[in-house]
Amino acid sequence: MSIEVQHVNKTFGTFKALDDVSLNFPDGELVALLGPSGCGKTTLLRVIAGLEYADSGRILLDGVDATEKDVRQRRVGFVFQHYALFRHMTVFENIAFGLRVRPRRERPSEKEIRAKVTRLLDLVQLGWVANRFPSQLSGGQRQRIALARALAVEPRVLLLDEPFGALDAKVRKELRRWLRTLHDELHISSIFVTHDQEEALEVSDRIVLVNKGRIEQIGSPRDIYETPATAFAYGFIGAVNEFRGKVEGGYVRVGDEKLHYDGQSFTDGQEVIAFSRPHDTEIVPDGQTADGVSARVNRILGNGSVARVELVANGEAREGRKDFFEVEIPGAEVQSLGLSAGQRVKLRGRKLSVFSNQNGNQTS
Ligand code: ATP
Repeated sequence: MSIEVQHVNKTFGTFKALDDVSLNFPDGELVALLGPSGCGKTTLLRVIAGLEYADSGRILLDGVDATEKDVRQRRVGFVFQHYALFRHMTVFENIAFGLRVRPRRERPSEKEIRAKVTRLLDLVQLGWVANRFPSQLSGGQRQRIALARALAVEPRVLLLDEPFGALDAKVRKELRRWLRTLHDELHISSIFVTHDQEEALEVSDRIVLVNKGRIEQIGSPRDIYETPATAFAYGFIGAVNEFRGKVEGGYVRVGDEKLHYDGQSFTDGQEVIAFSRPHDTEIVPDGQTADGVSARVNRILGNGSVARVELVANGEAREGRKDFFEVEIPGAEVQSLGLSAGQRVKLRGRKLSVFSNQNGNQTS
């Protein structure tokens, strides 16, 4: 089912949680709503579901205006971070619940219910826990049952709010891969909320990046990672080194040092933020280059094919500069440069992306 959000606004008291949000989710995609805590992801999900009503704007489901419809009419399935399964019911009965409470004439027969629940249990690979109670399941198993329960009523769209947020890192990783596989089997339009960029990059077909109640960027994980459209997107997605300064004749002046860049045109004196990914940042021994920002090697991690070098700003942290940097270089380069902890070096961006910082753009 396609979902269209048109100019949605939502205010809590004086706080604007959603600010003129417009989006189009094509049918059958797995979309991640990604953004920092408090940016409005859950509010947007709840407005799409019909659990929360927007102050203005419209929600269209398959082209039909659903703005005034409630959750049930919208046929939405949910999985929440803490989706309390009914404790007094077995796993089987939890999944069957949505079917059993249907009005008599829409209710499937007992035989059909049994067949459907069994199929769903197989789908989430938990047929063997059918007769257990929720308290006898692990957190990951509970979330898989919550998903089976949401799917039982054949929702037209599945909304997941930090579904794996309460699980430990390893289970979380396993479950997100499992969710991706499941989605490839079912192709139900699904939107999941996450603040975890790695999760969004790994699982989704499309990422909607939200910041302060507004859409910052929409694109495939690759687009978002490789061509962030704004300073916020650059800073939020993936590890990045950040340099703040002013443009000066083809350079970004950072304190009394300068970074060479090309490709973007800014006028001299303009305040900018320059970003460089760890694998696009270069370490040059001190004294061998006129440009670059000074830093001191703090730690060198890994000595295999790729080494991660952590650095700190050289001397006192100056205004307009973050204190920590991270550079990924081949292990062999650590040797050839003779890098060691405490050493003073200069950093340059092999690929430097520069954004205007006129509005005091914050990236973190
Ligand atoms: P998180 O990742 O922390 O869950 P989120 O991006 O999902 O964050 P929302 O839950 O959508 O954020 O909340 C957006 C903002 O609206 C927050 O500042 C929150 O405090 C505020 N907010 C949400 N619901 C209400 C409410 N019912 N009453 C007042 N303020 C609310």
